[in-house]
Amino acid sequence: MTLKHKRILTDDIHQPLITGFQEAFSQSQTSATTYKPLSDTSSQEIQLTQPAKKRLKTYIWVTWLSSLMGEDKQCKYTAWLSANYQFPKRESDFDSSAHDRMVKQRAIQHKNQGFAAYIEDDNSFTINGETCDIGGKPDIVVNENGQIIIEDCKSGKRKTSHRMQVLIYMLLFPLSPQGQQICQRQAPSGRLVYPNGIVEIAPSEVNTEFKEFFRQTVAIVSSTTPPCQSPSHWECRYCNVPSAYCPAKFDKEANTENHDLF
Ligand code: SF4
Repeated sequence: MTLKHKRILTDDIHQPLITGFQEAFSQSQTSATTYKPLSDTSSQEIQLTQPAKKRLKTYIWVTWLSSLMGEDKQCKYTAWLSANYQFPKRESDFDSSAHDRMVKQRAIQHKNQGFAAYIEDDNSFTINGETCDIGGKPDIVVNENGQIIIEDCKSGKRKTSHRMQVLIYMLLFPLSPQGQQICQRQAPSGRLVYPNGIVEIAPSEVNTEFKEFFRQTVAIVSSTTPPCQSPSHWECRYCNVPSAYCPAKFDKEANTENHDLF
């Protein structure tokens, strides 16, 4: 099916609550950026140069949601297109070796302490919903003396999106078959493991405000109308949507030495 649509600013409706939530989180978190509402109000018709196949049901990865909720990404179109259509993605050059080493080391630490730890594929889940399915894979789920903790290892700098990711895991993992068995109706805690320290996340942080923020973000990504594209040099550069599927893609390499200012 060929995707052809008009830009519609459906997501801007949700901005006030998202902003409030971000501010609340920024007080206890890594430095959160101020949420900037999208300013693109054009209704330009977009015609893709290659066909994209519509998914039978919207499928969302947890990390797509956490990137938007933590404001790592401003362009909601990336997640929307990936969730609703299948198309050949640009190859990622992300090197996961440091992360993989951290996960292995944490697993060994837990084992040495006598704790039951479940690693990556053991924790993979898909939660079915009315409008979409959501999938995720926490790095580690560990039972520390009866307290269930969902851990994610991060080899880079601290970001709000990391906290969002773990909070979504804390919300959804207990609903999965393996989560029900491991958690036994107990609300899990969360933990972010960085090279330079550990951040603990209390079960109480999965509160009404967070759930509403989560629902609103899911609604944007699973909407039948696409959010507007927000092209920027930085974001488009690392976006895995090829230009054939995003005519707005900012992919020009400008010569920044062409001036006489300094
Ligand atoms: S290429 Fe740019 S504008 Fe297009 S979806 Fe990706 S980030 Fe958004």
